[in-house]
Amino acid sequence: MHFVRVLYPERTEIVGKILCVGKNYAEHAKEMGCEPPKLPIIFLKPASSLCYTNQKIAYPKHSKEMHYEAELVLLIGKKIKEPSLQDAEDAIVAYAVGLDMTLRDLQNEFKLRGEPWTLSKVFDNSAVVSYFIPKGQYNFNPEDRIILKVNGVVKQNSQMKNMIFKPAEIVKFIADRMTLEPGDLIFTGTPEGVGKVEPGDTLEAYIENLTDLRAYIT
Ligand code: MN
Repeated sequence: MHFVRVLYPERTEIVGKILCVGKNYAEHAKEMGCEPPKLPIIFLKPASSLCYTNQKIAYPKHSKEMHYEAELVLLIGKKIKEPSLQDAEDAIVAYAVGLDMTLRDLQNEFKLRGEPWTLSKVFDNSAVVSYFIPKGQYNFNPEDRIILKVNGVVKQNSQMKNMIFKPAEIVKFIADRMTLEPGDLIFTGTPEGVGKVEPGDTLEAYIENLTDLRAYIT
């Protein structure tokens, strides 16, 4: 079983599905050589890919190009299916900052061959999360900045208003297609500035007014 911890009041959730949104910032879609998507692009990570802040991420032997992607992460706290937009919003009970670590070399090969890119996204510790902050103590503000530093140098610096699909829209889109349940996590996509990490690098991700996380590449 994998758990996430929600701070103040303390609460632990068993992690269910980990859903991720691809290319949810227009500038990131552009740097990937793509048009902004017309509908959310959704993929999954397994619960076994989850780790907390301050953990080590081992460079997978089968990749030479692991990338960071800093993202806002939503914790679902209610069972929903085909919800209204308001019910989708109400199902978001907490927020975290996360890293969707990606094996870009594998992903590019899979895309070229028209194959699912699953294996570029599912390795151990590829879904890093901070502690979760309950809604109310943090309220989603599109003006808030999302920032990622590698060894203290800013590499990603955007605002969540640059998301193409907003959190409640993403939750509704997914829950119109599969039931969402308490403990499901949603990574909402990364802004531009993604790049390669090397063993020895320290990653810091931060969302203004929310919280931060740290990860160490080994
Ligand atoms: Mn991502």
